[in-house]
Amino acid sequence: MAEDELTGGCQCGAVRYRVPATPLRASVCYCRMCQRASGGPFMAFMRHAAADVVWTGQPAIFRSSNFVERGFCGACGTPLTYRWVEGPNISLTLNSLDDPEAVRPELRYSPETEVSWCGRLEGLPTKQMDVTGDARFVNHQWTGSPTAD
Ligand SMILES: [Zn+2]
Repeated sequence: MAEDELTGGCQCGAVRYRVPATPLRASVCYCRMCQRASGGPFMAFMRHAAADVVWTGQPAIFRSSNFVERGFCGACGTPLTYRWVEGPNISLTLNSLDDPEAVRPELRYSPETEVSWCGRLEGLPTKQMDVTGDARFVNHQWTGSPTAD
Protein backbone atom coordinates (compact mmCIF):
# COMPACT_ATOMS: atom_id res chain seq x y z
CA MET A 1 0.00 0.00 0.00
CA ALA A 2 1.37 3.39 -0.95
CA GLU A 3 1.57 6.17 1.65
CA ASP A 4 -1.01 8.22 -0.17
CA GLU A 5 -3.71 5.58 -0.42
CA LEU A 6 -6.00 3.45 1.69
CA THR A 7 -6.99 -0.16 1.06
CA GLY A 8 -9.92 -2.25 2.13
CA GLY A 9 -12.40 -4.85 1.09
CA CYS A 10 -15.00 -7.37 2.10
CA GLN A 11 -14.57 -10.09 4.67
CA CYS A 12 -13.97 -12.90 2.13
CA GLY A 13 -11.53 -10.94 -0.06
CA ALA A 14 -13.47 -11.32 -3.33
CA VAL A 15 -13.88 -7.52 -3.51
CA ARG A 16 -10.94 -5.22 -2.66
CA TYR A 17 -10.39 -1.51 -3.27
CA ARG A 18 -7.73 1.19 -3.21
CA VAL A 19 -8.54 4.89 -2.78
CA PRO A 20 -6.64 8.14 -2.17
CA ALA A 21 -5.74 8.57 1.51
CA THR A 22 -7.78 11.75 1.88
CA PRO A 23 -11.54 11.26 1.43
CA LEU A 24 -13.79 14.14 0.35
CA ARG A 25 -15.80 13.58 3.54
CA ALA A 26 -16.32 10.97 6.24
CA SER A 27 -19.60 10.60 8.09
CA VAL A 28 -22.00 8.35 9.92
CA CYS A 29 -25.66 7.99 9.01
CA TYR A 30 -28.40 6.88 11.41
CA CYS A 31 -31.26 6.83 8.86
CA ARG A 32 -33.55 3.81 8.80
CA MET A 33 -32.36 2.84 5.31
CA CYS A 34 -28.74 2.70 6.49
CA GLN A 35 -29.82 0.73 9.56
CA ARG A 36 -31.52 -1.86 7.35
CA ALA A 37 -28.64 -1.94 4.89
CA SER A 38 -26.09 -2.60 7.62
CA GLY A 39 -28.09 -4.53 10.16
CA GLY A 40 -26.44 -2.21 12.68
CA PRO A 41 -27.34 1.08 14.41
CA PHE A 42 -25.65 3.26 11.75
CA MET A 43 -23.37 3.17 8.74
CA ALA A 44 -19.99 4.89 8.61
CA PHE A 45 -18.75 6.04 5.20
CA MET A 46 -15.94 7.91 3.48
CA ARG A 47 -16.74 9.66 0.21
CA HIS A 48 -14.46 9.63 -2.82
CA ALA A 49 -14.77 10.50 -6.48
CA ALA A 50 -16.01 7.25 -8.03
CA ALA A 51 -13.28 7.56 -10.67
CA ASP A 52 -10.63 7.43 -7.91
CA VAL A 53 -11.64 3.98 -6.63
CA VAL A 54 -9.55 1.11 -8.00
CA TRP A 55 -11.44 -2.18 -7.64
CA THR A 56 -10.26 -5.76 -7.53
CA GLY A 57 -13.49 -7.67 -8.02
CA GLN A 58 -16.77 -5.75 -8.22
CA PRO A 59 -19.48 -5.21 -5.62
CA ALA A 60 -22.95 -6.58 -6.28
CA ILE A 61 -25.56 -3.82 -6.30
CA PHE A 62 -28.89 -3.38 -4.55
CA ARG A 63 -30.79 -0.29 -5.64
CA SER A 64 -32.27 0.71 -2.31
CA SER A 65 -34.22 3.62 -3.83
CA ASN A 66 -34.55 5.38 -7.16
CA PHE A 67 -31.79 7.77 -5.97
CA VAL A 68 -29.29 5.38 -4.41
CA GLU A 69 -27.56 2.08 -5.03
CA ARG A 70 -25.72 0.14 -2.36
CA GLY A 71 -22.87 -2.23 -3.13
CA PHE A 72 -21.94 -5.35 -1.22
CA CYS A 73 -19.87 -8.45 -1.79
CA GLY A 74 -21.98 -10.96 -3.67
CA ALA A 75 -19.99 -13.82 -2.14
CA CYS A 76 -19.93 -12.87 1.55
CA GLY A 77 -22.46 -10.04 1.90
CA THR A 78 -20.21 -7.35 3.41
CA PRO A 79 -21.74 -3.87 2.85
CA LEU A 80 -19.21 -1.82 0.86
CA THR A 81 -20.69 1.19 -0.93
CA TYR A 82 -23.40 3.84 -1.12
CA ARG A 83 -23.82 5.89 -4.27
CA TRP A 84 -26.23 8.44 -5.67
CA VAL A 85 -26.86 6.96 -9.09
CA GLU A 86 -26.51 10.27 -10.89
CA GLY A 87 -23.61 11.65 -8.86
CA PRO A 88 -19.84 11.58 -9.45
CA ASN A 89 -18.97 10.27 -5.97
CA ILE A 90 -19.16 6.99 -4.11
CA SER A 91 -19.05 6.29 -0.39
CA LEU A 92 -17.17 3.31 1.00
CA THR A 93 -17.86 1.74 4.38
CA LEU A 94 -15.27 2.95 6.90
CA ASN A 95 -14.89 -0.35 8.66
CA SER A 96 -14.16 -2.25 5.47
CA LEU A 97 -10.81 -0.42 5.54
CA ASP A 98 -7.81 -2.59 6.38
CA ASP A 99 -6.99 0.03 9.03
CA PRO A 100 -10.32 0.89 10.70
CA GLU A 101 -8.69 3.87 12.49
CA ALA A 102 -7.41 5.43 9.27
CA VAL A 103 -10.37 7.81 8.79
CA ARG A 104 -12.57 9.47 11.40
CA PRO A 105 -16.16 10.59 10.78
CA GLU A 106 -16.61 14.37 10.79
CA LEU A 107 -20.38 14.62 10.29
CA ARG A 108 -23.55 12.84 11.56
CA TYR A 109 -26.48 12.40 9.19
CA SER A 110 -30.06 11.83 10.39
CA PRO A 111 -29.44 11.89 14.16
CA GLU A 112 -33.23 12.07 14.70
CA THR A 113 -33.49 8.35 13.89
CA GLU A 114 -30.53 7.25 15.98
CA VAL A 115 -31.68 4.32 18.16
CA SER A 116 -31.99 5.36 21.79
CA TRP A 117 -29.28 3.01 23.08
CA CYS A 118 -26.65 3.85 20.47
CA GLY A 119 -24.92 6.60 22.41
CA ARG A 120 -25.35 4.86 25.75
CA LEU A 121 -23.01 1.88 25.41
CA GLU A 122 -20.13 3.27 27.48
CA GLY A 123 -21.60 2.25 30.82
CA LEU A 124 -22.43 -1.35 29.92
CA PRO A 125 -20.55 -4.23 31.54
CA THR A 126 -17.68 -5.49 29.37
CA LYS A 127 -16.46 -8.97 28.55
CA GLN A 128 -13.58 -10.28 26.41
CA MET A 129 -14.63 -11.83 23.06
CA ASP A 130 -11.58 -13.43 21.50
CA VAL A 131 -11.76 -16.91 20.01
CA THR A 132 -8.46 -16.65 18.13
CA GLY A 133 -6.62 -18.38 20.97
CA ASP A 134 -8.86 -21.45 20.67
CA ALA A 135 -6.98 -24.27 18.85
CA ARG A 136 -10.23 -25.26 17.06
CA PHE A 137 -10.70 -21.74 15.63
CA VAL A 138 -10.39 -21.34 11.82
CA ASN A 139 -10.70 -17.82 10.38
CA HIS A 140 -12.48 -17.72 6.98
CA GLN A 141 -12.11 -13.95 6.59
CA TRP A 142 -9.56 -12.36 4.27
CA THR A 143 -6.26 -11.94 6.13
CA GLY A 144 -3.99 -11.06 3.22
CA SER A 145 -1.58 -8.20 2.97
CA PRO A 146 -2.82 -4.96 1.43
CA THR A 147 0.44 -4.76 -0.52
CA ALA A 148 -0.34 -8.04 -2.30
CA ASP A 149 -3.32 -6.57 -4.19
ZN1 LIG B 1 -16.62 -11.10 0.08
